[in-house]
Amino acid sequence: MSESVPGPGPRRTEAEVLARVERARRRPARLVDERITMAHGAGGKATQALVEAVFLERFRNPALEPLEDGATLSLRSARLAFSTDSFVVSPLFFPGGSIGELAVNGTVNDLAVSGARPLYLSAAFVLEEGLLVTDLERIVAAMASAAESAGVAVVTGDTKVVERGKADGCYITTTGIGALDRPIELGAAAARPGDAVVVSGPIADHGVTVMLARGGLDLAAEISSDTAPLGDLVARVLDAAPGVRWMRDATRGGVATVLNELASAAGLAVLLDEAAIPVRPQVAGACELLGIDPLHVACEGRFVAVVEPSDAPAAIDALRSHPRGEGAALIGEIAAEPPGLVLMRTAFGGTRVVDTLVGDPLPRIC
Ligand code: MG
Repeated sequence: MSESVPGPGPRRTEAEVLARVERARRRPARLVDERITMAHGAGGKATQALVEAVFLERFRNPALEPLEDGATLSLRSARLAFSTDSFVVSPLFFPGGSIGELAVNGTVNDLAVSGARPLYLSAAFVLEEGLLVTDLERIVAAMASAAESAGVAVVTGDTKVVERGKADGCYITTTGIGALDRPIELGAAAARPGDAVVVSGPIADHGVTVMLARGGLDLAAEISSDTAPLGDLVARVLDAAPGVRWMRDATRGGVATVLNELASAAGLAVLLDEAAIPVRPQVAGACELLGIDPLHVACEGRFVAVVEPSDAPAAIDALRSHPRGEGAALIGEIAAEPPGLVLMRTAFGGTRVVDTLVGDPLPRIC
């Protein structure tokens, strides 16, 4: 081993060289560009600066820091939940959040309602040439803070850049792993006639907020997205009510769609009580103007649970004791007949079929 390392400038001792390397390693990376360019996706110096200054800076954790091809994780649980989701919401920012919160909370919540404790996320970004770096930084900061409140770490990721006009600013795909610590088997097959159907809070806030944020509707309402991580809330319900049989977060397609999926998978009916379904008055008003049923509108921080009847009061109390479940309500029950259908007793005393969302009246909502 030589005592010094040849290089530009005066000869330095090995210790001096190592100290310089160490200083360079510790120096916070900086990104001087104002906008994303094709070079940021080319895999060279610009990509490196983007990854270090924007992503590593915010997501820093021991699994991500080596920036290897894959993160090395240690998991104690032998049973894992694994989920993935892409986010293409337009606009990127809206009251109550951004594509950043959605990308973290969406995947975290799919893990949580599977009964898992969310642990790790990957994040893959497709960026459009010309995207403002300050906008990307806001999105990444929102992801980092959502990940922190959900108790997950972003441990691996990818960035690609496409030409101007070939994407809409930023698309994000997140994949998550969670540990199934509890000895429970959730699923439609566990539902029984007589079970209670519970929702964790007012529905349709997210979808209506995004629709209004797009403008073009002469409607101003004080509504913001409900995007939030649900891991804590789900854990609280599972602790208080071991008789939870099935859970889903009511995202795209809304409460109606997840309940229809439940009804057909279980071969049972869901009977809803319209008067019991929590919808904020301003959200109900906006839905009426838009001609859509709040039951078909996406939430990003609400879930629906089917609970054994004797455990329903405990589940509702547990929900209401948490700030994210304050508006929880018992909205209906499971019945044997008619199998595969969701029916609703209306406020006028009639009964109507609540169908799965057909087509896409609310595109690019998440
Ligand atoms: Mg889901």
